[in-house]
Amino acid sequence: MVETKQLSHYVGGEWVAGPDGDWTDDLNPSDTSEVLARVPQGTGEIVDRAATDAGDAFVLWRRTPGPQRAELLYRAADILARLRDELGELVAREVGKPIGEATAEVDRGVVILRYFAGEAVHPIGEVIPAQQEGSLQFTLRQPLGPVGFITPWNFPVAIPLWKIAPALAYGNTAVWKPAETASLIATRLAEVFQEAEFPRGVVNLVLGRGSVVGDSIVSHPDVKAISFTGSNATGMAIGRKAAERNIKYQLEMGGKNAAIVLADANLDQAAKLAASGAMRYAGQKCTATSRAVVASEVADSFVSKLRQEIEALPLAPATDPRSAVGPLIDQAAVNRVGQYVSSGQSSGGSLVLGGNLPRGEQFERGYFFEPTVILGVPHDAPVAQEEVFGPLLVVQQAQTVEEAIQLANSTQFGLSVSLFTRDVNAALEYIQDIECGMVRINGDTTGVDPHAPFGGMKGSSSHTREQGTAAKEFFTEVKTVQLNPAS
Ligand code: NAD
Repeated sequence: MVETKQLSHYVGGEWVAGPDGDWTDDLNPSDTSEVLARVPQGTGEIVDRAATDAGDAFVLWRRTPGPQRAELLYRAADILARLRDELGELVAREVGKPIGEATAEVDRGVVILRYFAGEAVHPIGEVIPAQQEGSLQFTLRQPLGPVGFITPWNFPVAIPLWKIAPALAYGNTAVWKPAETASLIATRLAEVFQEAEFPRGVVNLVLGRGSVVGDSIVSHPDVKAISFTGSNATGMAIGRKAAERNIKYQLEMGGKNAAIVLADANLDQAAKLAASGAMRYAGQKCTATSRAVVASEVADSFVSKLRQEIEALPLAPATDPRSAVGPLIDQAAVNRVGQYVSSGQSSGGSLVLGGNLPRGEQFERGYFFEPTVILGVPHDAPVAQEEVFGPLLVVQQAQTVEEAIQLANSTQFGLSVSLFTRDVNAALEYIQDIECGMVRINGDTTGVDPHAPFGGMKGSSSHTREQGTAAKEFFTEVKTVQLNPAS
């Protein structure tokens, strides 16, 4: 049994309690008898303090030379690397990510911090030939100010770091609200920034409800930009508010990602990667494969291989080293997946696999759902159109490459799609016509190199990109400077 921690907000370099008596319990989704933490429900006043401190800190931080900012980010990376195993286990316990993937996420966090430490010493402008003789014209990328970060629970290390690290590298300060169910990991990350000795107020953490803390961050006049990852409903509401304030915002939201399997594909490879993309971490990734669009002539063979691959992925509590699937985040998610299974069946679909709560003592106190595959639902059924965010894969059939691409494109989302084929012409057509930000060929829909741009098209994104050099576009603003000779 683990000890229940009472958490605090981290504001202006101090740990701030409260308010008294208003907290939620943070449970282990694999075993809800474990209460990991009491999460204080922050208020508008605490956000106000954090935004003011972030504004005060910005005055000095923006003038801190890039190489010094880099040094602190490298230090944070070293501290995180030291905490690898502890934080990996915490990710498994707090958000139910199978421990192998959870620890890999901490490793990725280290890489992200190091990458953006390096970016802090890279060019922040370019020289542009001036029309006037003797003049010097150049662009200068400058930080935006205090940035509000609102993050989800499913990548509790990687997502906050791939947002906050570039923001800090380019001279911004941070007011961060993590998902309530990832508050303990967020607290440990704030401790990493504290131990690395970032100046007071550069990183601020306010815990609590989205509707209170998140909303106060988006509305605060000192917050000059918003970086959000989460669901479409929340993201679109935040985007509208940020647009009303005319501040910069970026939204990375949901997906309904397809794996397209053509008749000439290596079916073993396709089945293995579709199973992995759909079921690892119980499908709780924005890039999870939630549809397989399969050439009709190989559909039976693919489905039988897919079934074997899914059955080989162990469903187990997240701290079990064998675990690949793990629990859902909460009871509402279990109910939601169950409802999509029922609606898929009502719309004419048939179950290939799963569809129920798993049986067994190890599942009794957790939010588990069996990996589930449904065949034969119409393409406009809710289960084929909406983000389920669970271990549920819909298999659809297509007669031609064009029909497969058109089916893959036929949702409001446009995050990640993979195509399985050996046909270079089909791949070329797909690269041109697929409507998504992350385009894969013979690969998993999930995962991205930490130094490559990441983001979606259509309803999945505000059309900005995160990570890599793309982060500089968002976290800086361009001044065009013309320096003329004095007459
Ligand atoms: P969510 O939208 O419920 O919550 C995201 C964050 O928004 C949380 O911190 C939450 O507290 C906050 N929030 C809620 N209401 C708010 C409000 N009114 N004002 C301000 N903030 C508010 O999403 P979630 O359940 O935490 O995460 C799952 C979703 O995130 C899925 O839709 C998934 O696809 C998406 N996601 C997208 C990406 C991506 O990069 N595209 C990555 C991971 C997750």
